[in-house]
Amino acid sequence: MPQLPLFIPESNLPRLVIIGSGFAGLQLAKKLKKAKYQIVVLDKNNFHQFQPLLYQVATSGLEPDSIVFPTRKIVRDYKNTFFRMVSVQKIQPQEKCILTDKGSLSYDYLVIATGSVNNFYGMQDVSENAVGLKSIHEALAIRSMILQHLETAVDVSLPEEKEANTTVVIVGAGPAGVEMAGALAEFKKYVFPKDYAELKDYPLQIHLISSSIKTLPMLSEKSSKNSLKDLKRLKVNVHLGVSVQAYDGLNVKLSNGETITATNLIWTAGVKGAFPKGLQPDVVQRGNRIEVDTFNCVKGCENIFAIGDVGMMKTNEFPNGHPMVAPVAMQQGKNLATNFKLPKENWNPFKYYDKGSLATIGKKSAVADFGKLHISGIIAWFIWSTVHLMSISGFKNKIAVGLNWASSYFTYDKGNRLIIRKYKHKKAFDCITTEELV
Ligand SMILES: Cc1cc2nc3c(=O)[nH]c(=O)nc-3n(C[C@H](O)[C@H](O)[C@H](O)COP(=O)(O)OP(=O)(O)OC[C@H]3O[C@@H](n4cnc5c(N)ncnc54)[C@H](O)[C@@H]3O)c2cc1C
Repeated sequence: MPQLPLFIPESNLPRLVIIGSGFAGLQLAKKLKKAKYQIVVLDKNNFHQFQPLLYQVATSGLEPDSIVFPTRKIVRDYKNTFFRMVSVQKIQPQEKCILTDKGSLSYDYLVIATGSVNNFYGMQDVSENAVGLKSIHEALAIRSMILQHLETAVDVSLPEEKEANTTVVIVGAGPAGVEMAGALAEFKKYVFPKDYAELKDYPLQIHLISSSIKTLPMLSEKSSKNSLKDLKRLKVNVHLGVSVQAYDGLNVKLSNGETITATNLIWTAGVKGAFPKGLQPDVVQRGNRIEVDTFNCVKGCENIFAIGDVGMMKTNEFPNGHPMVAPVAMQQGKNLATNFKLPKENWNPFKYYDKGSLATIGKKSAVADFGKLHISGIIAWFIWSTVHLMSISGFKNKIAVGLNWASSYFTYDKGNRLIIRKYKHKKAFDCITTEELV
């Protein structure tokens, strides 16, 4: 049955529909706030989430509200801009129309800014039993999962059950995995001994597993080495050059033949592009990303664009596409907005300006690469904190995060160790993943 159209007020302006209010989509909407388009921003959630700090929610360091921000509050002052909370299910390029869970919507220009989802590389058992770290729902699920399993560890009497429930395996040694391991190690050091004194013979075991032979492989050799040193100082068991092959909810089978018994498995080992169906299959590239030209225009489609994690722009400098990081997403959103304000013959190709890379390993320690300059330790940690504080949406959120960090800097406490919504199973999450939609 054909869908009824979503209600959007009539306008003589060309309609530009943006799917996704992440870093890329919101930057585009912001830079077009006075332009002569009718802008419609669509997202399955009514908020923008600051993914770089998800791990702090997952480890009880921050409350969830301080890293998400209502999209309506951001776009409400933009001229001719409308927000609709819908899940986009299909693109119909011929009809210049999209289908959503609530109705259809026609467009003159379409920008796909739908980001990425966890990539479990086809391992069904791992995808069903592990929890990823891609959304605020998952961060909260990890928080509940770890805390509930610690409660279980107190309840049970068998040593092997106690051990399994106090073991956390983190897969992936990129920034998300390393930051998660560092924050959890601090939980182990400062919170666990006081809150779970009864478990003194079963200290929290943290394993970080990566198929790469280095931690933070995308950073410089020096930063990579420093991060490994910090993780070891924090007593994280680091397994490099090893991959996870199976997980049934209890036994983590590794490629080197070892098995770790753990009820907690956190997956940060990879993401893949996510977008609604309807595009030609030949535009889908490695990592499920959409092939775009240097103007972010989707191959073979004049009026459809893809920006951020989901776009694959191959250049001489980035033959496998740009890194899937927030600055690329924001810069692509900005560049496309500038182009939309110009006649097509004057459009500028996208050029990524890499301002540097940062990762923190527990409190007071971080690594930072700025070209040939590599900084580590507390100075890098202050730079990391300042950059993240400045990047969070909303003044209230900046204050909340800043105060939280300041208090835990001195007290070493993690005040948000609450099981608000019980962790049941990944499939029971109150969220829709894009993976389910495509
Ligand atoms: C744990 C973690 C830590 C990270 N740390 C860093 C870091 O320190 N520094 C850094 O630069 N980058 C970091 N990143 C990467 C960074 O968050 C991403 O590169 C960035 O979010 C990409 O922006 P985007 O706009 O392309 O996608 P996103 O920000 O993911 O936004 C996509 C939006 O699209 C919406 N959406 C998706 N599908 C649909 C649909 N079908 N219908 C409606 N809406 C839809 C989603 O709800 C979402 O709001 C991290 C990522 C993670 C997961």
